[in-house]
Amino acid sequence: MGRYRSLVLIPILVLSVFGAACATNPATGQHQFSLMSEDQELQIGQQQDVEVRRQMGVYADRATQQYVSDIGVRLARESERPNLPWHFTVVDVPAINAFALPGGYIYVTRGILPFLGDEAELACVLGHEIGHVTARHAAQQYSKSMGAGLGVLLGSIFVPEVRPFGQLAETGLGAVILKYGRDDEIQADELGVRYAARGGWDPAAMPRMLTTLGRIDEDTDNKGVPNWLSTHPSPENRIGRVQAAVQQAETTAPPGVTNHDVYLQHLDGIVYGDNPEQGVVRGSVFLHPSLRFAIEFPPGWDVNNGQSEVVAKEPGVNTFMILQQMPRPVGRGIEDAAVQSMQRAGFHALDGEETTVNGLPAFIATYQGTVQDLGRVRLRAAHIVHERRVYLVAGLAPLALYEPHEPAFSQAIGSFRPMTRGEAEAVRPSRVNVYAARAGDTWQSIADHMSHGVIKAATLAIMNTHAIADEPRPGERLKVVI
Ligand SMILES: [Zn+2]
Repeated sequence: MGRYRSLVLIPILVLSVFGAACATNPATGQHQFSLMSEDQELQIGQQQDVEVRRQMGVYADRATQQYVSDIGVRLARESERPNLPWHFTVVDVPAINAFALPGGYIYVTRGILPFLGDEAELACVLGHEIGHVTARHAAQQYSKSMGAGLGVLLGSIFVPEVRPFGQLAETGLGAVILKYGRDDEIQADELGVRYAARGGWDPAAMPRMLTTLGRIDEDTDNKGVPNWLSTHPSPENRIGRVQAAVQQAETTAPPGVTNHDVYLQHLDGIVYGDNPEQGVVRGSVFLHPSLRFAIEFPPGWDVNNGQSEVVAKEPGVNTFMILQQMPRPVGRGIEDAAVQSMQRAGFHALDGEETTVNGLPAFIATYQGTVQDLGRVRLRAAHIVHERRVYLVAGLAPLALYEPHEPAFSQAIGSFRPMTRGEAEAVRPSRVNVYAARAGDTWQSIADHMSHGVIKAATLAIMNTHAIADEPRPGERLKVVI
């Protein structure tokens, strides 16, 4: 959960007039019917970029941003659309992904960087996303979704403007990350190889990168933003397909560099996993050192720290808990503010009382209403005031499941508490460090003794371009998480 952000992803600019045109695309050589002019692409890119930055945050490390941007600009210069105003941004999310908006806006997540083996692999990821723009896949996807009248409006829960619980499984970010078809992906791979080779990087990094991403089990890392695998088709098929492009690039361009050591240098110290500024999940506990509070969700539940709310879910059951920062009530008591905002979201109060939660003023009540996909539901919800902000903590279950879950909901609500300064300062981010493997080191021993459970042994292997069954070689420079 970040600082309070507008919880609604504004609908993609509705274009009243489509400048429909048929043209040959210089990147793909294909004849293409495009519903969107370049100006429109730029306009959409610009507008959605504001949302991406607000919702995901920009990774606050100038050197890393500059490094990624320099590589991106070099690649874009080799593309068929060198004159677009290209932008390359590292967004501050732990998930492993990269994506593009029309008009030349390219993003990689902070989370993908440790999983790339060298600079050439980063160039291939950026080249792939540039390919989506030059081949106008991004523009076409937007044209399609608008043509179908599908306003991309994702948002969240308990905000009156938005249908509650429509997208519990996703965060608003899913809307920005377009899904392309397999053919588009293969084309983007080939274009990425072309741009990387022309820019002087080793094009064989593309299949290496795809192999690594293919190894990543979706469960091994943080949720929140969909991972590459959920927005891209299975890598195995793509690895075979891209080999021909790699071989062709190798015969026409001079051998490319990987810049392995340079890449490791740049990666040393990068934040891994949750960023404490947006709150961290430790087991079933959620800590927000910047906003200075902690809460414990029911043990064993999956806790997902999204950009605009935290959602905890009981595995296999449709019961949820939600934590969200509310807009500040203006000149009203907590009870009025609570009941009215719940009412606007379609829930009416069955009971309720003003009370305190660990010394914090609160209004706790039971509500009933209807939720998309779940039907009639009942909620136990607390509006809690802490440091002049209002937090909503709610447990929700379909009517039949409510009674047995009520004690767990109430217990979690009662666990919301302020953090002391000392406690907040003790929450530190994990970081990637470069380490030379010693004889006898195994992924497991590194995970146990250096990472203290922050990362699994298998994830360490994948991060270092190894199959899970391999062990590190003595002297090998490794990325470890400490
Ligand atoms: Zn793609």
